[in-house]
Amino acid sequence: MTEATDTINPNGILAGKTILVAGVTLDTSIGFAVAKFAQQQGATVLISNFGQALRITRRIAKRLPVLPPVLELDVTDEDHLAGLAEQVREHLGSDAHLDGVVHSIAYGNPETLLGGKFLTGPWSDVAQAVQVSAYSLKSLAMACKPLMSEGGSVVGLTFDASVAWPVYDWMGVAKAALESTSRYLARDLGPDGIRVNLVSAGPLKTLAAKAIPGFEELDSMWEQNSPLGWDNGDQQPTARAVCALLSDLFPATTGEIVHVDGGFHAMGA
Ligand code: NAP
Repeated sequence: MTEATDTINPNGILAGKTILVAGVTLDTSIGFAVAKFAQQQGATVLISNFGQALRITRRIAKRLPVLPPVLELDVTDEDHLAGLAEQVREHLGSDAHLDGVVHSIAYGNPETLLGGKFLTGPWSDVAQAVQVSAYSLKSLAMACKPLMSEGGSVVGLTFDASVAWPVYDWMGVAKAALESTSRYLARDLGPDGIRVNLVSAGPLKTLAAKAIPGFEELDSMWEQNSPLGWDNGDQQPTARAVCALLSDLFPATTGEIVHVDGGFHAMGA
């Protein structure tokens, strides 16, 4: 496990930047690791979640180096999306701006869509998975756009959707939609100087992953075939890549998918 201290570097790669991380539930959430590393790199961070888990998020937020504002955002709720910029202003003042937005959100009904249910998954559940996991990248980016300007960065999280995996089923299709959505967003936000990129992470033991029936199957593939090795309990490498894409270190990169998977994607066998 890569250890990180709570030390904040005021001259870090995100110094002076304000970042919204959407999709933090537990301290195992990739979003939590992103929020933590972003703070360590000098960013002002806001986090969000929705529904009953918001209570848990508020508790977990206390484990970050700096207690961030916790916003309520269900990415399928038009009222939440319409009020997001105002929520940010309530916490950061009327001249609030966002330099970066992290989409760390996905949902697919594990009982009907995952774990070998590809041929039977019903459309209503597939539609929900695509809305929450892919369409919402556009919804979130547009809800934040009034607060963003040239140099802004939107980063999402995918699981390589270029191939079919065991057990991942309709979530794989939703991730393919996410990857395509990020390219179209990159096209349409590029003229405003806003970059849109994804990090493609290997399997990590989070709440979302634990809900996938047969997740261990993916896990063991990584264990055997990653040239760099892969620690499924270490969210740090993924969080660092997200923060690098949020920073000014990738000024001419958009529509990209950066793999943080121990090199697994590049191996044939
Ligand atoms: P996680 O901790 O469960 O985070 C997923 C988040 O999405 C949760 O905070 C969840 O909230 C939130 N969410 C679900 N529906 C939402 C909605 N309608 N509106 C707003 N938020 C909603 O799991 P994670 O693994 O860190 O997932 C973060 C991202 O990384 C996802 O896009 C995931 O697909 C991606 N990813 C994960 C892995 C992996 O192996 N873990 C690998 C590659 C990519 P609730 O907890 O309240 O439902």
